[in-house]
Amino acid sequence: MKAQLFKKLQQITEQNLMDIESHKQNGNHAIGFYCLYAPTELATAADAIPLPLCGTRQDPIEAAEEALPRNLCPLIKSSYGFAASDTCPFFRFSDMIVADTTCDGKKKMFELMNRITPVHVLQLPQQQNTDLFLDPWKAEISLLKQKVENLTGKQITDQDISNAIQLLNREREALKRLMDVTRAIPSPLTGMELIEILFKTGFFADKHKGIAIMDEIADACETMVQNGESPFKKTTPRILMTGVPVGLGSDKVIRIIEESGANVVAFENCSGYKKTFQVDETKDPLTALAETYLSIPCSVMSPNPGRFDLLEEMITGFSVDGVVDLTWQACHTYNIEAYGVQEFVADRFALPYLHIETDYSQSDTEQLRVRIEAFLEMI
Ligand code: SF4
Ligand code: SF4
Repeated sequence: MKAQLFKKLQQITEQNLMDIESHKQNGNHAIGFYCLYAPTELATAADAIPLPLCGTRQDPIEAAEEALPRNLCPLIKSSYGFAASDTCPFFRFSDMIVADTTCDGKKKMFELMNRITPVHVLQLPQQQNTDLFLDPWKAEISLLKQKVENLTGKQITDQDISNAIQLLNREREALKRLMDVTRAIPSPLTGMELIEILFKTGFFADKHKGIAIMDEIADACETMVQNGESPFKKTTPRILMTGVPVGLGSDKVIRIIEESGANVVAFENCSGYKKTFQVDETKDPLTALAETYLSIPCSVMSPNPGRFDLLEEMITGFSVDGVVDLTWQACHTYNIEAYGVQEFVADRFALPYLHIETDYSQSDTEQLRVRIEAFLEMI
């Protein structure tokens, strides 16, 4: 059953490029996004397809290094490399790029990317104090609304935004339900399977297709749990991964952890559980978007207390045996925050913790394997 659903997921993924193409041929647009802080609801409200563009592959990095320094985060180089080498169909489909002032490397890279395709940069506050920063952030979101209106020629009403909030809340609910199936001991899904589903459904032109397949897989997994079926044993070590985002192509650490006999059951990052927030459907829609998106607990915020609240909830809720904290090379915010995360995991939970700093290449695979195997022996 699960295998058939993965086949279906692959078929929808293959059909998806044609779906985007026909959407655009009908006079509609696609908008590329690079960060979880940007409210994709504004694209959906204007019938534009929001496409997540963060680069997760090693291949385009060489092209990026012709313009960018080598000692830069691989996610930034991969993202720029796809644009510079014109090798990402989703970038090519994007009529406009929405970026945010998150970390230094990313915001300076967007200045170069703007030479390739128009980039609109949201001035993201670096702190979540709503008294000081909610109004300017809401003004940024209003400005984005105007930019999207100018691009698409569609006047976006409050009702359009409310409808988009409802649809994307439904998508986030499906994501959460899917990610919650791994709370079961043993889990019915591998971490690699979970990453594949999260990654592929993110690009779907038709949100309803993504919601439907996630619900189907969650149903199948819940049945597996009821029948006592799992690829793991009750004693398999359960790992929570925190830190930077991961996707297909930047999954080496997850793969090594699972090849070494553990199961990554939870992703406390912006490609995983940080995506499961709900936007308040009862408030003025722009205020609700501003409040919710500003509260996302990424390390680019200083301080970033929400990450520790989320870690607390997830370490307990997913019955975790150990925490792996992943930092992409040259990501200063996650690298520095790792110190506090290590203390928190040790003091609050007395659990084994491993901090890994790496890039997208395979050059350190065997070295990582040795460290991960030693870490798993502590569980
Ligand atoms: S890690 Fe933070 S800054 Fe980077 S994409 Fe995710 S939310 Fe945005
Ligand atoms: S992983 Fe870190 S350095 Fe890389 S883009 Fe995200 S915040 Fe910036």
